[in-house]
Order: sequence, then structure tokens, then C-alpha cells
Amino acid sequence: MPTYEYECKACGHRFEEAQSMTAVPLKKCPKCKKNKVSRLISSGSGFIFKGSGFYATDYRKGSAPSCPSSGSKPGCSACPKGSH
Ligand SMILES: [Zn+2]
Repeated sequence: MPTYEYECKACGHRFEEAQSMTAVPLKKCPKCKKNKVSRLISSGSGFIFKGSGFYATDYRKGSAPSCPSSGSKPGCSACPKGSH
């Protein structure tokens, strides 16, 4: 279940709420009780973070060992500094 981030436009209170994808977005602020809450774009939700993490791991696996450290070229530009 994704976590949504809300911000109250009346008092500035920010909070997170775990809701299903089909749930109706909240409107009422739990702090000032006004219907001024709007949902923020959830860039930091667990679901998206997990997905990008998997992607980064796969990418690193595929590209990092491509350095020809076995000795054909002494010090290629793609290698991190100091490795050669
Ligand atoms: Zn509020």
C-alpha cells in the first residue's frame, strides 16, 4: 500500500497517510480540521524507492565490472580515480 504525503494549505501541517491506490484523497486536516489538505507528489514513497533501487543495482552490476582491469589498457577513463 503506497504512502501519500499531504500538506494543509491552511496551517502548513504535513503528514503521511497510507492509502490504497483507489482511495479517495484526504481533504480534512487532522490538525486544524479545515478542508484545505492537498496531496503532494509522492517521490519518496516506498514503492517508487524500491523500484529505482532495483534498477540502480542492475545497472551497476552491468556496467561497473566492464573496466578492463585485467590489463589490456593501463588506466581507462571510465575507471574511478586511483583504481589504476
Ligand atoms: Zn491544517
